[in-house]
Amino acid sequence: MARKLFEGVVNFKKEDFEKNKNFFQGLKDGQKPHTFYIGCSDSRIVPNLITKTLPGELFVVRNIANIVPPYEINDGTYKCTASALEYAVKYLNVNNILVCGHSNCGGLKALFYDEEKLSQLVFVKKWLELVKDIKEKVQDIEDIKLREWEAEQLNVIKQLDNLLTYPFVREKVEKGELNLIGWYYIIETAEVYNYNFEKNEFELIN
Ligand SMILES: [Zn+2]
Repeated sequence: MARKLFEGVVNFKKEDFEKNKNFFQGLKDGQKPHTFYIGCSDSRIVPNLITKTLPGELFVVRNIANIVPPYEINDGTYKCTASALEYAVKYLNVNNILVCGHSNCGGLKALFYDEEKLSQLVFVKKWLELVKDIKEKVQDIEDIKLREWEAEQLNVIKQLDNLLTYPFVREKVEKGELNLIGWYYIIETAEVYNYNFEKNEFELIN
């Protein structure tokens, strides 16, 4: 399968790049993305594809279950998501931060793995401590599909809240210089539900 990657770069250059050469060459001068996209690492949700955006438009961080760890400094750890957030907001001055959750999220399913299975995944186990309250909120829902949807949607809202723990995010949001957006993407229909902050519910975008 690695062969597919190597052939892919050759064909990309030969076909797509050549066909849109001016556009791609223009990117060399720098980036001015309008949106910082926080998504799950899941291979089925491709940020530029689902938003029909081009290279240069989205600044992206993806991790297990599209999580934004709450603001914390000087605790000695290396901060991937926070550093991308800081760069996007303070240096690139993006207009929007979009948290995109999705259906059938393996990261959130892992919250319900038994201890033995989870102990094989030490880093994932640790990472999911960031959303352990979500497990508590949904664990009484008997229908597993419903439980998963609820967990996935609550998770988007939680990460929007976590974004506001960053002073440089909160300040710009309060001044109206930065929009927070929460989406929930359904894999099998490509429907996207947008979080309405006032009504506290997700609404289908159409
Ligand atoms: Zn996921």
